[in-house]
Amino acid sequence: MNDQLDDLRRMLTEPAGPHLDDEKLAEMVTAELSGEDVDVLYATEMAHLGRCPNCAAAYEELASLSFTAVAGMAAAAYAMTPQQVLVDLLQAELGEPAAAAVSETVAALPLLFAQPPATPEAFDVALAGVSLPPTQSAVVAAARRYLAALAVYLASSAAAVWGRAVDVQTAVSPQGHQLQLQPAPGTAVPVLSSAETGDAWHLLSRRVGQPVAWHVSVRAARLSATGCALMVHVDRPGLANAGDRQVTIAYGGREETAVTDANGTAAFPLVPIAALPTLQVTIDTFSDTLPDTLPEQPGQQR
Ligand SMILES: [Zn+2]
Repeated sequence: MNDQLDDLRRMLTEPAGPHLDDEKLAEMVTAELSGEDVDVLYATEMAHLGRCPNCAAAYEELASLSFTAVAGMAAAAYAMTPQQVLVDLLQAELGEPAAAAVSETVAALPLLFAQPPATPEAFDVALAGVSLPPTQSAVVAAARRYLAALAVYLASSAAAVWGRAVDVQTAVSPQGHQLQLQPAPGTAVPVLSSAETGDAWHLLSRRVGQPVAWHVSVRAARLSATGCALMVHVDRPGLANAGDRQVTIAYGGREETAVTDANGTAAFPLVPIAALPTLQVTIDTFSDTLPDTLPEQPGQQR
C-alpha cells in the first residue's frame, strides 16, 4: 500500500521531462518494429512514457497502426498501392470529413513513394519542391508523422512482392493492347514466366493480338529497397521499326508514358516495387496498322 502511495506521490511531484516529439516517437516505433530493444536504446524516453499519459497514448496509437500495416503486409501489398496505405493511415487519424483532402494530398505526393523518405527531416526535404494547397497542411503534418512507419511498411511490402508470381490478363482498349497484372493466387504451381534472380525480376513474357502476335516482356531492376527501374519490351515478327511506340503504365492512380527505343524497349526509371503486382501496361499497337502495311493503290501520287 505504501509502495503504491509512493509511486503516486512520485508521479505527481517529479517532473516527467520534456514531451517526446513526433520525430522521436516515430523513431522509437520504427526501432521496435525492427526488433530493437527499445527499453535499452531509449531508456530515458521509455521512462517518460511510463509517466506521461499523453505521450504514452501517442506512442501506442502510432505503434498499433504500424504493427497493423506491417503484420498485414503480404496481403496488403497485393491489395493496395503505397499511396492507398498512406491514405488509409491518414483517414484513420483524421476521419471522414478529411477524406477528400487526404486523397488529394497523397495524389500530390507521388514522388515520395518511389523513394520514401525514412525520416521526417527527409520528408521535409522531399516536400520542399512540391507545391501543396495550404488547406492541406493538417494532412501534410499527419503524413509527416507517419512517414517513418510508412518507410518501414514500404520496404517490407516491396520485399514481400519482389519476384513473386503474377497473373496477366490481356484486353484490347482504344489505346492499344492492355495487360493487367494481378498477384497470382498461389505459388503451388511454379510460374515459368515469373522468376526472381537477385536484383533482376522477369515479371512476364506474353504474346498478345492476332493474326501476328506482339511479344511483350517486362523486366524490373531493383534500385533500392522500395524502387526499381522497369523495362517494357515490345516486338513483332516483321516489324520494320521497333522504336517510337508509346507504352503507358498505371498504378495507384498514377500514369506514366515512355516511348520505345530502336530495340523496342520503353524504360521507366523509377517505379515503386510494391506497385508491380497490380500494374497496368498499355501498348499503342494501333498506330502502325496504317500506311506502310497497306498495298499501294494504283495511281496513287507520291
Ligand atoms: Zn509527455
